[in-house]
Amino acid sequence: MTSMPEVTLKAGREKSIRRRHPWIFSGAVAGVDGAPPSGSTVRLVSQSREFLAYAAWSPSSQIRLRIWSYDEKESIDAAFMTRRVARAIELRRQLRLLDKSGACRLIFSESDGLPGLIVDRYGEYLVCQFLSAGGDYWRDALVSALDELLSPRAIYERSEADVRKKEGLESRSGLLRGDLPSEPVEFSIGGMRRLVNIEQGHKTGGYLDQSINYQRVASYASGARVLDAYSYSGGFAISALLKGALSATLIDSSADALATAEQQATLNGVADRCGYTNANVPEELRRLRKAQERFDIVVLDPPKFVSSAQQLKSGCRGYKDINMLGLHLLKPGGILATFSCSGHVSSDLFQKIVAGAAVDVNRNVQIIERMTQAPDHPVELQFPEGEYLKGLLLRVVE
Ligand code: SAH
Repeated sequence: MTSMPEVTLKAGREKSIRRRHPWIFSGAVAGVDGAPPSGSTVRLVSQSREFLAYAAWSPSSQIRLRIWSYDEKESIDAAFMTRRVARAIELRRQLRLLDKSGACRLIFSESDGLPGLIVDRYGEYLVCQFLSAGGDYWRDALVSALDELLSPRAIYERSEADVRKKEGLESRSGLLRGDLPSEPVEFSIGGMRRLVNIEQGHKTGGYLDQSINYQRVASYASGARVLDAYSYSGGFAISALLKGALSATLIDSSADALATAEQQATLNGVADRCGYTNANVPEELRRLRKAQERFDIVVLDPPKFVSSAQQLKSGCRGYKDINMLGLHLLKPGGILATFSCSGHVSSDLFQKIVAGAAVDVNRNVQIIERMTQAPDHPVELQFPEGEYLKGLLLRVVE
């Protein structure tokens, strides 16, 4: 057996490892033994050759190493991957999220000790994204572990995100195990029947991070006129209608997402109170404002406006713009549920942006609740980057 290649860090650069942060950037690397294959496991050592961790080597990424384990006695092999998958499943069991008709995020990357691996479960179907060189390297072992531990009807891959390019990986999607049905897969969340198109939907087919926030927003919905902007398949709108909203209007630029929303509204018996607008949100909000439309609840759940530090300024302007428009459309006493899923925008910054929007539209606004991602998207304490979703539930006083 050949010995594992060693990667030596520059002096002082082991500090973040001692705090157990799982990433090492390219600038921290002093030297590498040979040319380890992309994704393979290396031994990370300090200048004084002290063992620090086992990590996955990613030669084309700025994040050059992602740590598997800080324990020198650990073997990084298929059995290790199975243990990590089992550990992630255990949390979802504790959260009571494993019933066969439900859905949950089963594995959330660094936060579950499996950097670069996302697995979402929709009913008895699993959808995986391998987003790092290390995750990709262990793909077969990880898929076998999922199959063995959960016996799903199918495992499907949707490794299509842009981040794969940074890892030197091509997009890849397709069936890994079992068979998919020809119809969208049905599952239920919080009393709402949902549909997901695993092959064509966004990301793994849908979004699970808002599942608890649907309930928070819906608790204000009785008798309300609701505007669900960036609705995707209408999770916010449909849960509000199920809690007695008078009407809901969905806005999304994806016609496919709105078609799924319509099917879901029918499935939940709320289609008669639901309307759909296939449009660009800022333009449509401006149009509604001109038409002097007013709502009791506005939801703003945009895609990530900031993907890199360079986009921070323009992204912040984008958030401010839509929040101003959203606030304009609310009646006094109305509720704005506003979100950002950009990791680069902290909760503090997001609150400041929304505060700026309220001043500029001259409205008096209170925070009544703060929201974050659902508990099946945990945040490893040493990896605060895992906390990406922030939301404010605001009330317009006057
Ligand atoms: N609230 C949804 C998730 C929203 S994801 C849920 O709970 O499931 C963001 C959505 O914004 C996607 O559906 C995407 O199609 C849509 N979108 C992105 N840019 C848009 C734009 N400029 N105008 C309208 N919709 C947009």
